[in-house]
Amino acid sequence: MKVDQTNMINRFGEFKDKKLEKEYEESELIVLFKYLRPIVLLLGILYFLFVIPDFYFVKNPKAFQLIFLVRAVYLILIGIFFFRMKSIKKYSTLCFWVTLYEVMASVVFIFVFYQYESPDFFIQAFGIIAIILAVCLVPNRWINMIMVSVFTAVTFFAASIYFLEQMDASDFSAVIFYILLVAALSSSASFRTHLFKRIHFLNGRDLIQLSIRDPLTGIYNRLKFDDELDKWISYAKRYPCDLSLMIFDIDYFKKINDCFGHLTGDKVLTEVTDLVRGMIRETDIFARWGGEEFVILLPNTHKSEAVEITERIRKRISGYDFTSGHLTCSFGVDSWRKEEERDSFVQRVDTLLLNAKEMGKNNVQSDDVHLKKPTLLTE
Ligand code: GH3
Ligand code: MG
Ligand code: MG
Repeated sequence: MKVDQTNMINRFGEFKDKKLEKEYEESELIVLFKYLRPIVLLLGILYFLFVIPDFYFVKNPKAFQLIFLVRAVYLILIGIFFFRMKSIKKYSTLCFWVTLYEVMASVVFIFVFYQYESPDFFIQAFGIIAIILAVCLVPNRWINMIMVSVFTAVTFFAASIYFLEQMDASDFSAVIFYILLVAALSSSASFRTHLFKRIHFLNGRDLIQLSIRDPLTGIYNRLKFDDELDKWISYAKRYPCDLSLMIFDIDYFKKINDCFGHLTGDKVLTEVTDLVRGMIRETDIFARWGGEEFVILLPNTHKSEAVEITERIRKRISGYDFTSGHLTCSFGVDSWRKEEERDSFVQRVDTLLLNAKEMGKNNVQSDDVHLKKPTLLTE
């Protein structure tokens, strides 16, 4: 079924689901630093370079010194932001600082405008348009972009009325119109950017889930399991810790398919996984090994503890009333041996599972302990 992802986004260009928005912001923050820092520095330096036209247009040396000072202070603040940005841990904090710097840029602009003896209204209007475009270009919350753009435009209009007394009314209205047009176009473009970035995020997330999960049961697939097992073995090699592995297989599963059909067989597979999922820890890695065979990697779990958990699962499954009635599973479980490679670890536990089958099924086999005497399905 095709989902309309735009319905998940509110009118401010953010996910309606707060948790999802937070997840997006966290992923965005990592990427943001990479391109936000050079953009901020570049725009800051460019902004400072406007001191050159100031030098030609402001005849009063005191006024020019003041402008120079204000622009230099702003550039220093930009430099501080550039170097300190990476220490920001939250997206909302980053947006706050970006917004504050943008408001400061607008205030500096109006201040310089005020220092000019006879400012050209049209040139100043171009300046405002440039600021609005920059605000919509620099990553920030969409609502913040709109607020800064409106603030910039409105203060400019107010300052123009105040500073430029003999202004032609039609010139003034034309400039207001063009500034508002630029603001509207650039904010709609930035809204689409916000929307598409979130849709892209959702698609990426779905793709990751599809690549690591078994579509029927929702637990991890073999690919993800192998990856996790490799990671945990490397970890255990460096920082010695217990690492246990359990492999289990549903007994006589073929009969279930033959008697009740494949759809019921599928349902039973999900019932088994749901039942087991509820009995293990969040940190345990539970995956479908293939068909009706499952694996659970139990990090930081000693062999005796792993055997205990396995026995608990075996009992719970054998006592549960599934859609197809009662069923049992056979289990192999053991711990990782120091310096052992992945394949030999898995092979050992898989052999234990085979032993469990050979011993009559519905039992747990570990390396040296026969915890339960072979039991019949009818038990
Ligand atoms: P044993 O007790 O020795 O484990 O025998 P078994 O019948 O459980 O095992 P066998 O390997 O003979 O058959 C496994 C069956 O599992 C065969 C296959 O059709 C079925 N199977 C594998 N994957 C799926 C699946 O996704 N859905 C369903 N419904 N059946 C599946
Ligand atoms: Mg089986
Ligand atoms: Mg099997």
